[in-house]
Amino acid sequence: MSPESAVRRYEEPEHAFTDGEMAEFVDDFRHRFKKAMIQAAARNRDNAHSHRPKPFKVGCTMMTIDGGNLPGDYSVYSAYNFTPDATKRRGWEKTCAESNAMWAALEHGASLIVAIVTVSKELSTGDDSKAHDALHPCRDCRDKIRQLLGMGILRKDSIVLNVNDSDNSEDELMVHKWAEEERTVEQLLELYKDDEVA
Ligand SMILES: [Zn+2]
Repeated sequence: MSPESAVRRYEEPEHAFTDGEMAEFVDDFRHRFKKAMIQAAARNRDNAHSHRPKPFKVGCTMMTIDGGNLPGDYSVYSAYNFTPDATKRRGWEKTCAESNAMWAALEHGASLIVAIVTVSKELSTGDDSKAHDALHPCRDCRDKIRQLLGMGILRKDSIVLNVNDSDNSEDELMVHKWAEEERTVEQLLELYKDDEVA
């Protein structure tokens, strides 16, 4: 290993994807990868570490295109929340599944996050002001989403899919009755536009 090989640099994304390319990526997510990403997020959630007596566990998988990769050559980053200390519940020290996956993607030079998937049996991070069928990103993570949107790493039409798998019963087609809430980043931030004034 040379010292030079151990130097990490942040590089601005070289390629701004067109709306048409993005629509293809979202289509790939919905039709090729979504089911596996939900299943992986559920398994990541099982590895989560929570300080609470009744553990609060979230798993996340993120589909990206990394710098230098061609459109369609996707990467997936996985994470879970790691919150061993009840006294550190703000900022980056509160390591949510979503923020851990965002860090992993940024560390590996993601130039575009196509989709963020979370799975949890929880419904609320403590803010019950919005009605949910599934856990939404917390205020801290929404702020990070805004920052990545400003950097162009997330787009308004990137997908945020929140899944609640607490109901493990199956329908007549043997499909789990998991509650899914899918939004674009734009729709999620519109729902939480009161963050800006809070
Ligand atoms: Zn969070």
